[in-house]
Amino acid sequence: MLSIVTREPIGVVGAVLPWNFPAMMVGWKLGPALATGNSVILKPAKLTSLSTTRMAELAFEAGVPAGVLNVLPGMGSTAGQAIGMHPDIDLVGFTGSTEVGRMFLEYSAASNLKEVLLECGGKNPQVVMPDIRDLKTVASNVLAAAFWNMGENCSAGSRLIVHRSIKDALLKEVLAQLESDWKLGDPLDPEVNLGALVEEAHMEKVLSYIATAKQEGLTLLTGGERVREESGGYFVPPTIFDDATPESTIVREEIFGPVLAVMAFDTEEEAIALANDTCYGLAASLWSNDLNTVHRMSAAIRVGTVTVNCFGEGDITTPFGGFKQSGFGGRDKSIYAHDQYCELKTTWIKLT
Ligand code: NAP
Ligand code: MG
Repeated sequence: MLSIVTREPIGVVGAVLPWNFPAMMVGWKLGPALATGNSVILKPAKLTSLSTTRMAELAFEAGVPAGVLNVLPGMGSTAGQAIGMHPDIDLVGFTGSTEVGRMFLEYSAASNLKEVLLECGGKNPQVVMPDIRDLKTVASNVLAAAFWNMGENCSAGSRLIVHRSIKDALLKEVLAQLESDWKLGDPLDPEVNLGALVEEAHMEKVLSYIATAKQEGLTLLTGGERVREESGGYFVPPTIFDDATPESTIVREEIFGPVLAVMAFDTEEEAIALANDTCYGLAASLWSNDLNTVHRMSAAIRVGTVTVNCFGEGDITTPFGGFKQSGFGGRDKSIYAHDQYCELKTTWIKLT
């Protein structure tokens, strides 16, 4: 007998995408799905469909055959659901909230058992150990992790878990750098690194989390109110709350905006427990100059990506995705992102 194991395209791939990185999310889904021989139907978020339709035009111009790449703009509850329920779609790659991700599992169960890959939310810890030497560098990375892209980032480091002995010194440096390096305003101004939030409803959601944190008695260190209202933009400044606890709402729920919650710890075990005390498991940052601590703790924190002594998730050659309710079924980016868009076939051929 000769047995041959081959990979085949899975068929028709549906991709349903969020608004926060509209062009990049298209790239992450489209590259491996097309390279493995599938046809793709993309549904961009309703707030950000123009870059996707433009990329499809360019793909068509570049020679991608008609019908291989299709863009279906529309609402989640109509176009998104139609992709989820369609009997001729073989797999859905979804990036977005955990809440909507769940619906795609229901759509699959209620229709044709299409495969579902989920890249969902995060509530990502930044753990700072007491042995770190350079507080300035840590502070600048803590700020970037929390506030880059206005915190509208699934891997935003929205929980700062810092050793009690260095907490005050680190927060002092964080607030000083926020003041000097983070300018909020018109994003077309090259000096500016913080723009408005994506839409009014999202701003209201972020402000309601800030109001909840105030009601729950957390200590507001900076921000906390809408600014630049006269501009007509939905601006919320970087907002930091100290004295958060594992029960605080802003520690438990993904805000997807510029809000950082700070908690202190005394022992390494406590730091790991706090880092893992979440239903999410997308990303984490860890700060330590001790190699043993780095190995122990990066293994113990249950997330898809750990960045040590830096913030950022590397490049296109490394897989990106989450543990726990941050998603499952596969990964975006890297060679690993190709396997999920293929079926494995075994063919036995009798040789006599
Ligand atoms: P979302 O509200 O879950 O929406 C994601 C997509 O699902 C959109 O295209 C949306 O359509 C669609 N949708 C909404 N309701 C639907 C329904 N009932 N049936 C089918 N489709 C539906 O997420 P978002 O607000 O765009 O983005 C923020 C979320 O994305 C955050 O939770 C963030 O953590 C997550 N995210 C995760 C990653 C990652 O790689 N893990 C990356 C980026 C963002 P419309 O909005 O157009 O109606
Ligand atoms: Mg949404």
